[in-house]
Amino acid sequence: MRYLVLSDIHSNLPALEAVLAEVDLSHIDEVLCLGDLVGYGPHPNECIARLRELPLRCVAGNHDWAAIGKMDTAEFNLAAREACQWTEKELTAENRAYLQSLPETFVQDDYTLVHGSLRAPIWEYVTHPLVAQRSFELLNTQLCFHGHTHVPVVFREEGPNPQAYILPPGQRITLDRNRYMINTGSVGQPRDGDPRASYLLFDSQEATLEYRRVDYPVEETQKSMKKKGLPESLITRLSYGW
Ligand code: ZN
Repeated sequence: MRYLVLSDIHSNLPALEAVLAEVDLSHIDEVLCLGDLVGYGPHPNECIARLRELPLRCVAGNHDWAAIGKMDTAEFNLAAREACQWTEKELTAENRAYLQSLPETFVQDDYTLVHGSLRAPIWEYVTHPLVAQRSFELLNTQLCFHGHTHVPVVFREEGPNPQAYILPPGQRITLDRNRYMINTGSVGQPRDGDPRASYLLFDSQEATLEYRRVDYPVEETQKSMKKKGLPESLITRLSYGW
């Protein structure tokens, strides 16, 4: 099976469209989405609708839950909270119901999907090998795809201490029989200093993985955000990928 793996789209339709335009979707069997479809950006309904046209497997993220009132936003910063309140008003009843229906984790064949971590699927940021280790203890498949930090990184289980690897975009690697926690990075709001949309391709037959980055018209998203009155700090950060 060939998979397109996406995370943290954050209502950024130009970024999502750039990813879908670059990938040859006729060669993709399934799209795996790791949550945070909405929040921050200006196109929540459009992004959900576009994703649902695809052969999609999707789990819930913290922004998805916050936008439907399933979780309070006390731990969000002011800008995130403002964007969340705007999103909540904007969402159609159908899209609210869709976000409501998303599971916290999804397991199929030899992989698990989760937004944050297996210890706290919606909330925990896996930022360090020691944090990844806590999820490896709960992992029942060889691979776990996760997001939430907006930083693409691979944790490989090597004895008691997993190692973290940053893989250069465009380089296809073959996975060995070790277990992996694989963070795809973010489509709609990258935070690793590279503003391009991040995604990955996974081929389960060949056991290969390839990170990709694609340019998108950042100004187009920023213009829509301005028009909709979303916070300035969220608009600016897209230019820098922070
Ligand atoms: Zn996110």
